[in-house]
Amino acid sequence: MRAVLLAGGTGSSKLLRGVQALGVDMTVVANVGDNAWVYGVYVCPDVDIACYALAGISDRAKGWGIRGDSFQTLSQLARVGVETWFRLGDRDLANCLARTQMLREGRTLTEATEVLADRLGVGCAVLPACDEPVQTVVSTPRGELGLQEFWVREKGRPRVLGVRYAGADRARPPAGIREAVRLADVVVVCPANPVTSIGPTLAIPGYSRLLRSARRVVALSPMVGDCPFSGPAGKLMRATGVQPSSLGVAKLYSGFADVLVIAGEDSGMVPEIRRLGLDCVTADTRMGGPSDEVRVAREVLSV
Ligand code: GDP
Repeated sequence: MRAVLLAGGTGSSKLLRGVQALGVDMTVVANVGDNAWVYGVYVCPDVDIACYALAGISDRAKGWGIRGDSFQTLSQLARVGVETWFRLGDRDLANCLARTQMLREGRTLTEATEVLADRLGVGCAVLPACDEPVQTVVSTPRGELGLQEFWVREKGRPRVLGVRYAGADRARPPAGIREAVRLADVVVVCPANPVTSIGPTLAIPGYSRLLRSARRVVALSPMVGDCPFSGPAGKLMRATGVQPSSLGVAKLYSGFADVLVIAGEDSGMVPEIRRLGLDCVTADTRMGGPSDEVRVAREVLSV
């Protein structure tokens, strides 16, 4: 089986590991909306979370970064007066330095990611959703914030007035992704923040049409009841006029998804979701550890 997986960060990496364990031929399309320049390097959080998860080196407890990484560089940066609210381990930083060097030499983000994924032993293609810069911008009463500023520095506290995806209109799905979708038996939308992890990819012209052309699109909801399993998805959905629940997710994905897999607790939503024109099935969608990841991956690939 060939699968293309649209991925965000922490939640998505669980499903990616599960699909990998099933031996599926996979291509990961990683969110680029929270890429940012930090400490002079280009940080691509979701691209790296996917690579570290698939290379078996991710820090499962934190949900980001490399297991056992040290933070000496950050300590020294703080000592010399640099603001260090964005946590980046030493080995993580080394990967960002390598990427930055390749970008400065004129390689695209896709090319740089291919090199890094290969060196890390990822074992499948991880492709950034686009090569052009796209930035998720959160509008708050105190001005616009990048996603890392909103979520990491401000701990998600500011009121959210809206979200926009700066640069998305100038971006396009890269040829490698279009080809991967054409060849795929299934496209899986991983559990991810619909506003900040899937939204930036969908905002790129051409993606909706590309997904509609896929053989089959299956999405796994990141919500249970009116809450996400983790992270700020509920707050951002509410702020952008979307009901924070699997029904809200269904409304966002109904234009291209064939099936939405939702939590068993939300079985009452199934009829209303089906009325939107996509199928809906329930499962135990919580992934608490490796065996859950494989179980959920099997469910998602078999619906
Ligand atoms: P974040 O919202 O900034 O953390 O960005 P991500 O795109 O990494 O979002 C993670 C999403 O995955 C959140 O919306 C979570 O609700 C979801 N998630 C985390 N763990 C699980 C899980 O075990 N099962 C499911 N179905 N979703 C999960």
